[in-house]
Amino acid sequence: IYILAIESSCDETAAAVVKNGREVLSNIISSQIALHTLYGGVVPEIASRKHIEAIDGVIMQALQEAGVTLEEIDAIGVTYGPGLVGALLVGLAEAKAIAFAANKPLIGVHHIEGHICANYIENKDFEPPYMALVVSGGHSHLVYASDYGKYEILGRTRDDAAGEAYDKVARVIGMGYPGGPKIDAAAKKGNPTAIKFPRVFLEENSYDFSFSGLKSAVLNYVNKQKMMGAEINPYDIAASFQQSVVEVLVGKTIKAAKDRGVNKIALAGGVASNSALRDEMKGACEKEGFQLSIPSPILCTDNAAMIGCAAYYEYLAGVRDGLDLNANPSLKLGER
Ligand code: ATP
Ligand code: MG
Ligand code: FE
Repeated sequence: IYILAIESSCDETAAAVVKNGREVLSNIISSQIALHTLYGGVVPEIASRKHIEAIDGVIMQALQEAGVTLEEIDAIGVTYGPGLVGALLVGLAEAKAIAFAANKPLIGVHHIEGHICANYIENKDFEPPYMALVVSGGHSHLVYASDYGKYEILGRTRDDAAGEAYDKVARVIGMGYPGGPKIDAAAKKGNPTAIKFPRVFLEENSYDFSFSGLKSAVLNYVNKQKMMGAEINPYDIAASFQQSVVEVLVGKTIKAAKDRGVNKIALAGGVASNSALRDEMKGACEKEGFQLSIPSPILCTDNAAMIGCAAYYEYLAGVRDGLDLNANPSLKLGER
């Protein structure tokens, strides 16, 4: 089964051809990051316009690199939510047009399901059930995946997403957008125990997250140092902030897995490419005897291969969408 997958939920225009769910024949990503960097974040209208310009070329390249013709494609998979509505509509309208013109089934995919399914691509034996930690620019979810396409959200962020916290803290210490990779690199030159920032675990049995207090603590620290005319070491701030985030993410994920009696953990989303999170989670899983799956960094951030993988399992489950499928910017995981 060949899936042509399209992703345009945020600031990456992406297309991929995926064979039987787990074999990526092509994975083309046109990123707008350089453009949005000028504004310190994603500007929705600019994102939509850039998707329009890029999408045909990206799809053509995906088919060409895969060596697969449109006639050979079995279904079109496309992200239809959550994300920026104007950005989603570009990919969705394109997918519908292709599905109609080439007479192929259309399968709408939840963007976060795509992030989770990225784990199936390189790790061929990885299967549900498992506990997934989804940490991206807009989400921080602890998800119990009982089967393909079956998800239960155990915890979520009550304020900022993990990636959002990285991006905001990076701005405070003058590192620019997107902050995640910059903080990751800066932290390697800093001391993670230099500054004691809070670890927010919330109530004893809660799987929820909260990162806005930590973000404020960093802001207060920087302001206080400035007021006292003291030196600000951005490397120590980056390392100490990151340590606080990672301790909470790893602690809650391991606890959730133990509570649910699952011995497999998967990381997903852009923040899953964070080197400290990967290392700490590896250490914790080794200690517990848990199996851990982490996609390569290029499959953690937005891409269409993950959407193709998710669409394949939806295809097997019989999911087919009509040409009236609409974009849903606040689509819930596990709902259609
Ligand atoms: P969502 O998936 O929730 O809709 P999104 O698609 O914008 O949001 P992703 O592309 O999954 O988010 O991830 C982007 C986020 O990942 C950004 O916040 C970015 O700062 C963060 N990120 C990327 N690389 C790293 C890294 N090495 N360390 C920490 N964070 C990172
Ligand atoms: Mg992005
Ligand atoms: Fe994403």
